[in-house]
Amino acid sequence: MADQPDHYAVLGVARDASPEEIKKAYRRLARELHPDVNPGSDASERFKEVTHAYDVLSDAKQRQQYDLGPQAGGFGDAGFGGFGDIFDTFFGGGGGGNRGPKSRRARGEDALLRVDLDLDEVIFGTHRDLEVDTAVLCATCNGSCCQPGTSPVTCDICHGTGSIQRAVRSLLGNVMTSSPCGTCRGYGTIIATPCVTCQGQGRIRARRTVSVDIPAGVDTGLRLQMPGSGEVGPAGGPNGDLYLEMKVRHHDVFSRDGDDLLATLEVPMTDAILGRQVTVHALDGDVDLELKPGVQSSEVITIKDRGVTRLRGNSRGDLRIGIQVITPTKLDHKERELVKTFANGRKQGPPALAQFQQGLFAKIRDRFHGAS
Ligand code: ZN
Repeated sequence: MADQPDHYAVLGVARDASPEEIKKAYRRLARELHPDVNPGSDASERFKEVTHAYDVLSDAKQRQQYDLGPQAGGFGDAGFGGFGDIFDTFFGGGGGGNRGPKSRRARGEDALLRVDLDLDEVIFGTHRDLEVDTAVLCATCNGSCCQPGTSPVTCDICHGTGSIQRAVRSLLGNVMTSSPCGTCRGYGTIIATPCVTCQGQGRIRARRTVSVDIPAGVDTGLRLQMPGSGEVGPAGGPNGDLYLEMKVRHHDVFSRDGDDLLATLEVPMTDAILGRQVTVHALDGDVDLELKPGVQSSEVITIKDRGVTRLRGNSRGDLRIGIQVITPTKLDHKERELVKTFANGRKQGPPALAQFQQGLFAKIRDRFHGAS
């Protein structure tokens, strides 16, 4: 992960480039470097690099992961548990290889923990002390797996090689095969007096508290990687990593559109007609709004920089408040007469057909996307 090129530099765009700018940069480079156009081997390497960078940065989730840097790295390509799988493929399992006895030490498992967050915690980021059930180094044997004062003894059966050679008759004559020693299970040594604290595992189960600063702007599904905070490996092997998967709880009023917060303001009809100053309670404090006389349902009032703090940079998204005018449903006699008098004085035409509207929320979205 450390030697991975900077995807933004590869595409020649700024770190806060919009999806449109990223797409443009990719198209331009792809035209220049595509193997059909540019047969050089340098170009084909760069084409791969550019395509990979685009794959990551054009996907909002992957880009978010990538922006968090090595803290959250490695995930997009390998997937959870990917390291272990790769490790096994090259070094483990097979048994056919004859590389001498295997080690009791192994890397600890990665762990995945879900962190539930409230929307207001996401706006500025938060801190958590998380209880983790994990494995820690056995303090009695310090990971050696042996009772203090003792040490593993060489296996008599395989003489420390960890494997048994056998001649097998085949069509090609006698062939030597090798299989793991059943007595020492391939370790080449036997622990005659296992540590009683850990039963010879070199580690014990324990509950540990992990302190973590959760950055602002995370969203459901994002995973933070905490290298070395997973469980300790067997026989004192290195720690695995701890992954924290974010889950942002549903909020009754506010929803999220990227780094923007959305809410609806229900405005009584009379306030919509006459206009009014309103103070609303946002997640991070009060906001003063001015409803202009004649404000309509589906109008959106944008409060700059009162959304979620962005993962990259310190700027914030906006708070967008969609207006919904509420028509009164119960009028007493006097009120009905007042409205009738008002309506008669207006001499307005009858209701008329116009284009179908998908509803308030769709309109807010339209305006949001239309504006960018
Ligand atoms: Zn022990």
